[in-house]
Parts: sequence; C-alpha cells; structure tokens
Amino acid sequence: MPSDLTEVPTDELMKEIQRRLDCNTKEEKRVILIGPPGCGKGTQSPRIKYEHCLCHLATGDMLRAAVAAKTPLGLEAKKAMESGALVSDEIVIGLIEEATKQPECSKGFILDGFPRTVVQAKKLDEMLAKRGQGIDKVLNFVVPDQLLVERVTGRWVHAGSGRSYHEKFAPPKVAGVDDVTGEPLMKRKDDNAETLKARLGAFHSQTAPVIEHYAAKVVALKADRPQDEVAASIQAALGSK
Ligand code: AMP
Repeated sequence: MPSDLTEVPTDELMKEIQRRLDCNTKEEKRVILIGPPGCGKGTQSPRIKYEHCLCHLATGDMLRAAVAAKTPLGLEAKKAMESGALVSDEIVIGLIEEATKQPECSKGFILDGFPRTVVQAKKLDEMLAKRGQGIDKVLNFVVPDQLLVERVTGRWVHAGSGRSYHEKFAPPKVAGVDDVTGEPLMKRKDDNAETLKARLGAFHSQTAPVIEHYAAKVVALKADRPQDEVAASIQAALGSK
C-alpha cells in the first residue's frame, strides 16, 4: 500500500473511489466459508471481500499472528496448531467477537475457518442475535480428501496478508516472493502430509456437523474446479448486491 497517494495512478485511484461509492449500495452480508484444509477458502476470500465490501476474518491467520508475536494467547494455541488439533472454543470465540466489531466489518464479514465446532456456531449465533444480526449464507467448499495432500503440501503463503500460492497450480510471478509486496513467502509448519491427516480428522469429526447446524443456509460448491469457476459459483450464490 503506497504511503503517498500521489504515487497511485489516477485510473486506479478513480476505480477504487468508484468501488467504495458502490459499497454504499451493497446489502449487508454475513457469510461463513466451510471446507477442509486446502479447499480454497483463503484464495477466494479476497475476491468476495472486494466485491461485497466485507471484512475477511480468518481465525487461522489471527492465531498464527498471535503465535508469531508470542502473546499469551499465541503460546496457548501453538501446541494444538502444530499437531493439527483445534484450539479451544473460548480462544477463537473471543477473537471473533472482537474482530467483528471493527469498522471494516460494517457491511458484514466473511468467516474463514470459523466456526469449526457446533459449540462455536451456537456461540456465534447468540452473539449475532444480541446485535440483531444473523448468518446469511454458508458456502461449503467440497473437495475430495485425496486432492488435498498435493494442494496443502505445495502451498506457499505470504505471512503478512495470508495470500497463498501453490508451486504447481498457482505459482507467484517470481518463485518464493509475494506478487504484491515483493516480500518472501513461507511454508506453514502444519502444511505437511502427517499433520494434514490430523487436520482432516478434526474437519470430518468436529467441523462437518457445523454444516448440518446451518443446513437451511448452506450452498455446496464444487471446489475442486479451477479458481475462476469456483469464483463464479460463489458469485451466483451471493448475488451481485
Ligand atoms: P487454518 O489456517 O484455518 O487451517 O487453521 C490453522 C489451525 O489453527 C487449525 O489447524 C487449528 O489448530 C487452529 N484454528 C483455526 N481456526 C480455528 C477454530 N475456529 N477453532 C479451533 N481451532 C482453530
């Protein structure tokens, strides 16, 4: 992000101003993205955020930032994250409760990686009900388990933004470097075949029931398709307003 706006080309600046004006006419939306590790939630989120003027709240990114900063919360979460288990419901509920109050979330939010248990889903519903709000849509990213190993073990991420790449399917312009900032990419500690098994286990046993919990709001997406096709089905599910 340039610190001096005079450096931004006029056409880009005008496009962004127009987008922000258009945001005023967008309906509020509160959307949950559910799917196993490597299903593409993090890849699709920036597009949805941009088109619908929402904030993107990824509990995994928030927890990794806390682990990197060695905060008490990060120290508590670290062991579970490295083994592929879930961290406690209390920790992530607290994170989401605070994060959803940010001004960037005024038009609503995309929850990516939360809720991951039925307890989290019920707490979220209660929290929103107190604010006179609710979840509008739950997008279920369906990908067969056998495709996820290659997707996850080939993943590279930009720690600062959460942007992700894949060495084969979506490589950065320059190997090992983030396209936007030019900063180095890194491998997540839990993106290995062994830990993925535990993460998939947690997904099937603890997170799949969340899909049942929201049955009436769920739209299933074939997320093993190319990125643009998945984006088009999300567009169809969320509408243009
Ligand atoms: P993710 O980046 O979504 O794959 O999350 C990475 C790790 O963070 C998970 O394997 C869990 O250990 C932890 N985590 C993220 N979100 C949650 C959540 N909603 N509930 C419990 N643990 C979570």
